[in-house]
Amino acid sequence: MKRFTNKQEYQNYIIIIGCGRLGANLANTLSEGNGNVLIIDKNKDAFRKLSPSYGGLSIIGDATDIDVMLEAQMNNASAVIAVTNNDNANIMVAQIAREMFHIKRVIARLYDPDREYVYNEFGIDTICPAVLSAKEIDKILSQNILTKNVIKEEEQ
Ligand code: AMP
Repeated sequence: MKRFTNKQEYQNYIIIIGCGRLGANLANTLSEGNGNVLIIDKNKDAFRKLSPSYGGLSIIGDATDIDVMLEAQMNNASAVIAVTNNDNANIMVAQIAREMFHIKRVIARLYDPDREYVYNEFGIDTICPAVLSAKEIDKILSQNILTKNVIKEEEQ
């Protein structure tokens, strides 16, 4: 594994779990913004989604494996973001990050909205694509209705 070059970088970096469509996008964005990023994925081909300018680190491995978390020096991370496509893996990593490594900022993606509130109680922030998408669609629909009403009023 490539290492961060100075001690400071090891005290302020974000670990992203899962280099899929969301994880890779986030890693590219944070890295472009000069953030220190370390990304983990169990599938080595997944790292192809990282942009050529990505300046962070990567580890191939199952993030639910404690040895992989230790290799990533999770205890030094300023935030852990678990965005694999597996709710159970995200929850497990998020809980270990909170309880064992005492990471204050932990975010997990959950596909199942019914589990969201449980993890919020553990201090884990969750994002649920189904809930976010529903809110966004509702917003677009209400904007369309408003626009149509304005047009109608102008025509009268
Ligand atoms: P996507 O559905 O495109 O956001 O991709 C999810 C990514 O999570 C894929 O690249 C998977 O290989 C990765 N992934 C799933 N489970 C794990 C795990 N336990 N540890 C590390 N990466 C994982």
